[in-house]
Amino acid sequence: MDVIALLPRLHLLRFPVGQAYLWHDADELTLVDAGPPGSGHAIADAVTALGHDPAAVRRVVLTHFHEDHAGGAAELAALTGAQVLAHAADAAVLRREVPAPEPVLEEWERPLHAAALRHLPVREVEPPARIRGLADGDVLAFGGGARVVHVPGHTDGSIALHLPAPACCSRGTPWPPPPSTGR
Ligand SMILES: [Zn+2]
Repeated sequence: MDVIALLPRLHLLRFPVGQAYLWHDADELTLVDAGPPGSGHAIADAVTALGHDPAAVRRVVLTHFHEDHAGGAAELAALTGAQVLAHAADAAVLRREVPAPEPVLEEWERPLHAAALRHLPVREVEPPARIRGLADGDVLAFGGGARVVHVPGHTDGSIALHLPAPACCSRGTPWPPPPSTGR
């Protein structure tokens, strides 16, 4: 796994297929996606190597249910006590309440999909013990308030996260911002 600093508060954990993003707040960590199945321990080790206690991982937000994004979530939640969150539509798939729909692929995407599958562990996504279902517009308590944006298409429950807090994401900008002087 490669660990790449993207922003002062954001690291990319990159697997041969799949990834996770680690967001650092002052007193807790948030993971966005959790890599492929079997990667929970590797993510916890990366958190330790970055100087944090894995128990500081407060939540794992999944952008969608596919195994290269959700695969490590159950293992990581069991290791850290983190809450797992996903849009309600994909949370139902992860809980195995509804079957996972087959991906809808264009002709040109099929060889790419087949190549990616060859690099994934042949393991099912273990369902996390508990998953909180999300809806469009929910605001999560990290990054100064991260808004859930429902972007159905890749899966019915795909989400993006928008962190609109001023200065949260600029390179080199301290967060939280210094208190105003009142002038
Ligand atoms: Zn996917």
